[in-house]
Amino acid sequence: MSLLVVGSVAYDNIETPVERRDDVPGGSALHFAMAASFFSPVQLIGVVGGDWRREHTARLESRGIDVSGLEVRPDGKTLRWTGRYHENMDDRDTLDIQLNVLAGFDPRLSESAQRSQFVFLANGVPQTQMSVIEQIQGADLIVADTMNFYIETERDALLEMLKKIDGLVLNDSEAKQLTGAVDTLVAARKILELGPRFVIVKKGENGAMFISRHEIYLIPAFPTENLVEPTGAGDSFAGGMMGYLASQGKADAETIKSAIAYGTVAASFQVEGFGAEKLEQITREDIDERLEKFRRMVNF
Ligand code: AMP
Repeated sequence: MSLLVVGSVAYDNIETPVERRDDVPGGSALHFAMAASFFSPVQLIGVVGGDWRREHTARLESRGIDVSGLEVRPDGKTLRWTGRYHENMDDRDTLDIQLNVLAGFDPRLSESAQRSQFVFLANGVPQTQMSVIEQIQGADLIVADTMNFYIETERDALLEMLKKIDGLVLNDSEAKQLTGAVDTLVAARKILELGPRFVIVKKGENGAMFISRHEIYLIPAFPTENLVEPTGAGDSFAGGMMGYLASQGKADAETIKSAIAYGTVAASFQVEGFGAEKLEQITREDIDERLEKFRRMVNF
């Protein structure tokens, strides 16, 4: 079934304790779409500036991602995020963020995009996320992501958006920041009162937690020995999850559990390279093979 992602497409400058790389193609929608493309056709809606290189669009196209909704604003500049990871490779500081063309981005969805059954609102301005929701006609599932930056700067718009979605995916610290709760579970329950019928709280190398009114489900992260750079882990987690759901055409609790496992595996590959480079090198068979290993690890 059709899957749509709306979010950021960016150039990232990333510093880890061992390496710094500039101009790494990234952004929430790009990482999401790369991961989702292993499972289902995906349409990407986003905006870039005149500095965006055509070859980076071509790389998305080569994975079968529909980029007809990627708007190029020749006079503007692409979102640029600069981040530095701490020694633990989990915590990070945003050293600089220039929203550039993403600020005020108000996409007009094509008719086919409006009829998407599975919709993911990746990290982006909440007003843009809301505008997309208003254009969507009868989707089966709308899931959104958000981040500390928007919890701080656009709280009211974010709260409005939460009323309109089925699921929210966010980091543990963000769930606590949004609700003022100190426990993950309390934070998630408070978020359920704000609108979504389920919340997925990501806890980095400690895995993820799915919470709905009647269910709690925990999943560990796949242990990797080759952590290179974690940017986009959350987006590729969501991409694997939503891509799998779209491929199954349903989003009941059991299917969501399998989808979370696929998301976990997609994220485990993502962190093994800078930006999306690792996902560009692997195949669906690599994902399925790792999923089987993961299944054996978590089974008891
Ligand atoms: P993650 O590591 O999953 O949190 O996602 C990191 C991605 O989010 C990077 O590729 C950034 O380009 C992108 N990003 C950073 N800040 C923002 C922002 N304020 N709005 C949208 N996307 C952002």
